[in-house]
Amino acid sequence: MRIGVFGGTFDPVHYGHLILGEQAREQVRLDQVWFVPAAQPPHKAGRPVTPFRHRAEMLHLAVAGYEPFRVDELESERPGPSFTADTLDELNRRHPGHEWFLLVGSDTLAELPTWHDPAGVVRRAALVVMVRAGGGVAPADEVHARLGLPADVALRMHVIQAPLVDLSASDLRRRVAEGRSVRYLLPRAVECYVEEKHLYRPSAT
Ligand code: ATP
Repeated sequence: MRIGVFGGTFDPVHYGHLILGEQAREQVRLDQVWFVPAAQPPHKAGRPVTPFRHRAEMLHLAVAGYEPFRVDELESERPGPSFTADTLDELNRRHPGHEWFLLVGSDTLAELPTWHDPAGVVRRAALVVMVRAGGGVAPADEVHARLGLPADVALRMHVIQAPLVDLSASDLRRRVAEGRSVRYLLPRAVECYVEEKHLYRPSAT
């Protein structure tokens, strides 16, 4: 099967993520998209991240009832920061025979050179990139050069066309903290969960 792997903090998951997942599924003909919440996101060090359980629960609520979307909690089982190359390795060990596609927004693609073992990432998975508002996608040969990949490592990259959704989890957290509306910016079930668990409120820990 062709499996899209979509890693992120998902703090909280919003329609920008879900649109990327669905458009990637359709345009790259993926059989399933697996959302993989990061346990301890290496790039979010310095700001408090909502506990894994809540972020995973919100993802389960967001994808409930949609067969091609799954949530894989494997990163919660590994101590320390979650590196994508290791996650792809572990997925391949657990589910051999699948073809892997890593879903990223264009901002994340631009950060790829700063990741741990970027060559290892692109060896293990093709990239599926969606443009994020305010950004653009560099051509594959430029990405290849920026990553400093050896000539024998091919970069497989698909750029998907999708409506630009200028949504970010940080903006949603800010809105909730300020008591502003987030209706229609994320699934209703996720909105209710945020309310019920008092997430992102100034008094929340
Ligand atoms: P934060 O605002 O906290 O940094 P975020 O909204 O960027 O969070 P992440 O969980 O960090 O969400 O993102 C996971 C992945 O989803 C990244 O690859 C990111 O580029 C992508 N992504 C997030 N929001 C969008 C969006 N609106 N459009 C396209 N891609 C997105």
